[in-house]
Amino acid sequence: MEIIVQKYGGSSVADTEKLKIVCTHIIKEVKKGKKVVVVVSAQGKTTDKLIKEEQEITKNPCKREHDMLVSVGEQITIAKLSMLLKENGHDSISYLGWQVPIITDSNFGDANILEVGDEKILNSLASDKIVIVAGFQGIDKEYNITTLGRGGSDTTAIALADRLKAEKCEIFTDVDGVYAEDPNINKNAKKYDKISYDKMLEMANNGAKILHNKCVKLAKEKNVSIIVKSTFIEESTGTIVE
Ligand code: ASP
Ligand code: MG
Repeated sequence: MEIIVQKYGGSSVADTEKLKIVCTHIIKEVKKGKKVVVVVSAQGKTTDKLIKEEQEITKNPCKREHDMLVSVGEQITIAKLSMLLKENGHDSISYLGWQVPIITDSNFGDANILEVGDEKILNSLASDKIVIVAGFQGIDKEYNITTLGRGGSDTTAIALADRLKAEKCEIFTDVDGVYAEDPNINKNAKKYDKISYDKMLEMANNGAKILHNKCVKLAKEKNVSIIVKSTFIEESTGTIVE
C-alpha cells in the first residue's frame, strides 16, 4: 500500500467551505491510487474558545479534566470531514486518538506518545476507506484522555507517518512553506524549497509558528520528511523539511 499522511491545521478546516477545499486535496491523492490518512485540528479558534470557557469556571483546572475538555474540538472536525468525503462519493472513517489507539504517558496537557496502533488504520485503508484521525489527542494506560500540547496535531501526523511507513507526510497550512522571515511582515522574505530539521528546530525555538517544536524533534528522530504547503494556493510546492 502506498500510504500518505496529510495534516490540516485549524485555519485550513475553519468552516465548511474550507473543508470542501481540503476534500479536493484528499481526493486528488486517492485518484492517484494512494491510501490517505488525514490528521486534522479543531476548527478555527475552537480550542482557544474552550480554554476561555474553562477560565470562566476555574483558573486552576484539574489537568485531567482540562484535557477532557480541550480535546473535543478535533472530534467535530473528523466527523464533518468524513461526512463530506462520503457526500463526494468516497468512503471514509473517522477515529479519535483512543480508537487508533495513540497511547501516551499521563503528562496531561503535554503528553508524549509512547505507542501507536496500526491495525485498525491498515484494515480501514485496505477496505478502501480514507482514514481521518483526530490530532492533538491520545489516551494513557489508565484510559484517561490526554493532549499533546498546543499545536500538537503536527506531532500526531509525524507519529502516524512513522508508524505506517508513509511515503510522505504533508502538513497543510495557510502559508505556502517555510520563510526566512514572516512573509506577512516582510513581503520579500525568502522561501526555502528545502530546510534541515536543525534549522527548522532553531526557527521553532525562535518563535516561528509553522511547525510544533516537538513534531520537528520527532520527525528528526524517526527520519520522517515533512512537506509544508498551503491549503489555499493551487499547486503550492511548499518546503521540504528533512
Ligand atoms: N487544536 C489544538 C490547538 O489549537 C491542536 C492543534 O491545532 O494542532 O492547539
Ligand atoms: Mg494549530
